[in-house]
Amino acid sequence: MEQVQLNSNVFSLLEDKIKMIKKGSEAIYLVGPIKLPVNLDGKTVEFKWYSWLKSENATEDFQRVINQLSSANLADYQQSSVLVYGDFEYDEDALIRMHSICHTGDIFGSKRCDCGYQLKQSMKMITEHGTGALFYLANHEGRGIGLFSKAIAYILQENGFDTVEANEELGFADDSRNYDDAIEVLKALRSKPVTLITNNPKKLKALKAAGLPVSGRTPLWGDISEYNKKYLQTKVKKSGHMG
Ligand SMILES: [Zn+2]
Repeated sequence: MEQVQLNSNVFSLLEDKIKMIKKGSEAIYLVGPIKLPVNLDGKTVEFKWYSWLKSENATEDFQRVINQLSSANLADYQQSSVLVYGDFEYDEDALIRMHSICHTGDIFGSKRCDCGYQLKQSMKMITEHGTGALFYLANHEGRGIGLFSKAIAYILQENGFDTVEANEELGFADDSRNYDDAIEVLKALRSKPVTLITNNPKKLKALKAAGLPVSGRTPLWGDISEYNKKYLQTKVKKSGHMG
């Protein structure tokens, strides 16, 4: 495969912005921080943005990693990222949100779930708190079943199945999300404990078990409507969520 040979001047601009997080023979390449001014309710707030890429062959040769990008068709896959706010490395108190991608809720503003609301609200909570990070997890669509399967599951939901039943009918576990890479990235950015924004004590427990240094939990409810009432009730009844 033909590869681009990166100009050494260009590489010198990039090498300090890439960090390798090694996990056995695998690696996570973390790139950033990148300044990201964001419009939050008409106010411009500046976040530090990082994205990451998982590789099965860890190499310290970042020039090679970059050279391979143009032929890797990365747009066909999903990459996750994190918005960091404040003095994230050193502040005693930091709010964390692990947000699962929701194409319909986050992008289209669908009222079938509360994801779009939770995304914006957690960004506001983090900036108001002063320090924190929002992880946007791109392989978590539909609790890890993918966008196409989510569309199929929505058809079942239109025919009387709840969100958990629909996923189970299609052969999926109720929740197939994995947070391992996000936890590794968090640990690379901060070693002090964090407060997790979530309504789900089970998620808090699972993340603790996976090595996340959590000191507590803060809930996030809102935007309840006729369209997502049943979905939110199912979260409470079947998936262990609480206010
Ligand atoms: Zn959603």
